[in-house]
Amino acid sequence: MRKIVIAGNWKMYKTQAEALEFLQGFMPLLEETPEDREVVLCVPFTDLATLSRNLHGGRIRLGAQNVHWQEVGAYTGEISASMLTEIGARYVIIGHSERRQYFGETDQTVNLRLKAAQAHGLIPILCVGETKQQRDAGETEAIIFNQLKQDLVEVDQQNLVIAYEPIWAIGTGDTCETREANRVIGLIRQQLTNPNVPIQYGGSVKPDNIDEIMAQSEIDGALVGGASLQPESFARIVNYQT
Ligand code: PEP
Repeated sequence: MRKIVIAGNWKMYKTQAEALEFLQGFMPLLEETPEDREVVLCVPFTDLATLSRNLHGGRIRLGAQNVHWQEVGAYTGEISASMLTEIGARYVIIGHSERRQYFGETDQTVNLRLKAAQAHGLIPILCVGETKQQRDAGETEAIIFNQLKQDLVEVDQQNLVIAYEPIWAIGTGDTCETREANRVIGLIRQQLTNPNVPIQYGGSVKPDNIDEIMAQSEIDGALVGGASLQPESFARIVNYQT
């Protein structure tokens, strides 16, 4: 049985005060959320402690948006896995296309981060996906298979979530056609040694398309950027209708 994981990625949004305000609006909207849905908020590092203190044992799981592979050291600006677990994080996004594009993440550093996260009990959400140019050139499958091959070397597939995020669909409102997302996710699953790894779709997921996305047989959840910033819209996504 594959787990359903719906994760919000707040990117570089929300001060601590704004994060608390979100929580106050969001938590009451989860009262009817089916138990089998894992609800995750991947927030800026500075919001983790505040949220952790205010979750009160509820069903929201906390996540970060990156982690360094070293335990300690002279790595200015980086955060280690034990710093994240100490503060209550359970998940961490790794290899988001914005990290790859703007901050020079490579498949090698993504692989190191995945292994470090798992060694400390964090569940990584590994992001893979193609650019528009790569899709138009018919390279989608090759690009993604190559990312998986390099990123997953010696990675434990029992403690892993993968997000298929076509880069051209992130933050653009240009959602990947649901059957196409389902097809690519099915192909991703065929590359794995554990077919039960939850595989999310990410890219302009909104309240008005989540029901159709989650109706697809291969899709096990969503990674949600913009629409996770408002309690009502993220709650509608988490409470998708089957
Ligand atoms: C993301 O941040 O991973 C994402 C998919 O963003 P959005 O939902 O805004 O497209």
